[in-house]
Amino acid sequence: MHGVVVRYHEIALKGGNRQRFVARLVENLRVVTAGLGVRSAQSLPGRIVLWLADDAAVDEIRARVATTFGVANFSCAVETSCDLEAIRTAVLAEAAAQQFTSFRIATRRADKQFPYTSPAVNALLGKAVQDATGRAVDLERPELTISVEILPRAAFVSRRKEPGPGGLPVSISGRVTCLLSGGIDSPVAAYRMMQRGCRVAFVHFHGGPYTDRTSLEKARELVHHLTRFQLRSDLWVVPFGAIQAEIVARVPRTHRVVLYRRMMLRIASALAARSKSRALVTGESLGQVASQTLENMEIIAAATPMLVLRPLVGMDKSEIIAQAERIGTLATSILPDQDCCSLFVPPHPTTHATAAEVAAAETALDVTALVEQGLTAAEHERFVYPTPAADARSVAGGEA
Ligand code: ATP
Ligand code: MG
Repeated sequence: MHGVVVRYHEIALKGGNRQRFVARLVENLRVVTAGLGVRSAQSLPGRIVLWLADDAAVDEIRARVATTFGVANFSCAVETSCDLEAIRTAVLAEAAAQQFTSFRIATRRADKQFPYTSPAVNALLGKAVQDATGRAVDLERPELTISVEILPRAAFVSRRKEPGPGGLPVSISGRVTCLLSGGIDSPVAAYRMMQRGCRVAFVHFHGGPYTDRTSLEKARELVHHLTRFQLRSDLWVVPFGAIQAEIVARVPRTHRVVLYRRMMLRIASALAARSKSRALVTGESLGQVASQTLENMEIIAAATPMLVLRPLVGMDKSEIIAQAERIGTLATSILPDQDCCSLFVPPHPTTHATAAEVAAAETALDVTALVEQGLTAAEHERFVYPTPAADARSVAGGEA
């Protein structure tokens, strides 16, 4: 095994975006694999090749490439010299190591000096495999695809494609700040934004001193887990219990949840501005609970001029749970906790708060002072996904 051939979905990339995408993906791959024995990362038309040292930590490299956004799929590949005979030998060796009834050869020629076109190489190698194994060529649904990449000074032969997470390379789309509870939804919302190329910072509100710290422990665990996808994360922890107590003392019971949320959004916006985020992200999904009706979402988001993104808004709970399981956050999310939002909440909160009611309720509060109180008490924590080169800080983000 000498290299890893990484493929991305070119079709989704238009014009000047493609260059930025590829440059960012190459840089992110370099950083995630730092210290693992990748000698260099090279961009070729339509793919990226990681050249490996003899003692490279192949399994760890595979695991990291598999969680790098922007990677559609990848294969571990054998390097050969750039002549047809050597390539044929490597292809036959791959075929001999496999059980299959049908196959095809997929050649890409990054070196146009190579004397044969890709279809010609496919035909020559296809015939060689057919002669050696007696298996049939099937261009539509082959059991085995052997890929050949012909580069200027070497060729790579690979077979098994391993899936990547798709999406866009982290940090290419800018920064957002996610309101992260300890629940199921918001970690999935954060993941979906990372997958679209955002670097995500987190804000967690806990009910201290009225609740224990279980929700905070869960939030930390979730950020730790999600950091594997972006290599470093910022978490802001905001004690919210005293602010809630003030709301409880002064506004109608039915409107507590809406007012909690508005206050959370104001505080989160100020923290987001500090980390240069352009938007807030929540795990809201339409109609899931009382606070997530169209009316309430509108009133809640009106508390801040900042853009509020809700990547799960059109998803069913079952779809969200399935994704939480796939990305590995579900097990933590379902642990019991004392969530601040359930503090002092009546059994039937309003599902259609009006702007006038909310404005009236908030006149009883010193909103500016409460926001300031939250910001003063907010604590910052930093998470870094360990790379052997411990150079994650420069990572995926030479960006400002
Ligand atoms: P989740 O599963 O993310 O907790 P939920 O279905 O429980 O969502 P709500 O409790 O209505 O829904 O919360 C809606 C959104 O508000 C959450 O997805 C999250 O973005 C934000 N939020 C709620 N509680 C907190 C908290 N304690 N800290 C930070 N954000 C929160
Ligand atoms: Mg929740």
